[in-house]
Amino acid sequence: MSGPRAGLGSSVVLKSISQLRDAGLLDEQAGDVEAVARRYAVAVTPAMAALIDPDDPRDPIALQFIPDIAELDHRPEERADPIGDAAHSPVEGIVHRYPDRVLLKAVHVCPVYCRFCFRREMVGPDGLGTLTADALDAAIAYIADHAEIWEVILTGGDPLVLSPRRLADIMGRLAAIDHVKIVRLHSRVPAVDPLRIDAALIAALKASRKTVYVALHANHPRELTPEARDACARLVDAGIVMISQTVLLKGVNDDVATLSALMRAFVETRIKPYYLHHPDLAPGTAHFRLSVEEGQALVAALRGTISGLCQPTYVLDIPGGHGKAVIAAPSIERTDQGHRVEDFRGGIHDYPPR
Ligand SMILES: *Cc1c(COP(=O)(O)O)cnc(C)c1O
Ligand code: SF4
Repeated sequence: MSGPRAGLGSSVVLKSISQLRDAGLLDEQAGDVEAVARRYAVAVTPAMAALIDPDDPRDPIALQFIPDIAELDHRPEERADPIGDAAHSPVEGIVHRYPDRVLLKAVHVCPVYCRFCFRREMVGPDGLGTLTADALDAAIAYIADHAEIWEVILTGGDPLVLSPRRLADIMGRLAAIDHVKIVRLHSRVPAVDPLRIDAALIAALKASRKTVYVALHANHPRELTPEARDACARLVDAGIVMISQTVLLKGVNDDVATLSALMRAFVETRIKPYYLHHPDLAPGTAHFRLSVEEGQALVAALRGTISGLCQPTYVLDIPGGHGKAVIAAPSIERTDQGHRVEDFRGGIHDYPPR
């Protein structure tokens, strides 16, 4: 092995091209990545930098976080707001697309910036920032005024970058709204900055006095380090339910062995696999996308390989704000006599009409 060891010794979040170069995570052949960094935010936490093998040009952790000039290649089918958040935002910070639940986007900062992010035009230092006190008041008032809102989903950005004091404030305000029964947070923090999950943060989450779910966003089994598993154990031991969210990404996790290991790692960590997202049409992310048919084949192979506990639901966020659709290939089809149903080995069987 040659060259400097990657950010192994780094104790700071790497946020610039020069810091990434100094840490040995970008080489001279990388091209004009400064132009990428001017366009899209960059951050790599020490925990993630330490996981990268600088001698592997296709390292699945590096692919997720280290800027690549391919991000400057924008395609006509790509959209700045791929899942149509803006179309369903009644007040700043709220996205109300489904009747019984809303997104509350209090902050547009993340501990890491993913190169494939579906909200890459909204997050980061030049993004939508953090809700002002007035905007947060209006967002909470909207939730209080809509009795059909059963669940509030804190996302962003990453809500677990908020200080425990600010989180406790938001949670305390949700506690006062009777019709809200569930508070869900989508976060990468337990894996990418595990020591942030401490007693103060957990106490803040519990201040909602609601049933709290944390959805961990992780895409490769290596992200579930011993420290990350400990952080998740602290959440689960505190009575917080954990589910997972993974983006299917070419070169990162688009093979049965990697996806199986990831889903098993979640289940071993007491995290129930929830969604496997088909990649969104975010700008400059064509190099991460695979076809729906490739995704369906992978999901079908998982069915035949690993425990039912480990099965995620394969979903697509329909561009334009039409919500999510389940896109796994059906294993049953109608015939003239009834149905044909496929088993996990690919064998075909008849089933009557009813
Ligand atoms: C994805 C999403 C949700 C959550 O959907 P679930 O299927 O409940 O996980 C809620 N609101 C919006 C606007 C979303 O994009
Ligand atoms: S943590 Fe989520 S919102 Fe933040 S950059 Fe990654 S995908 Fe985007």
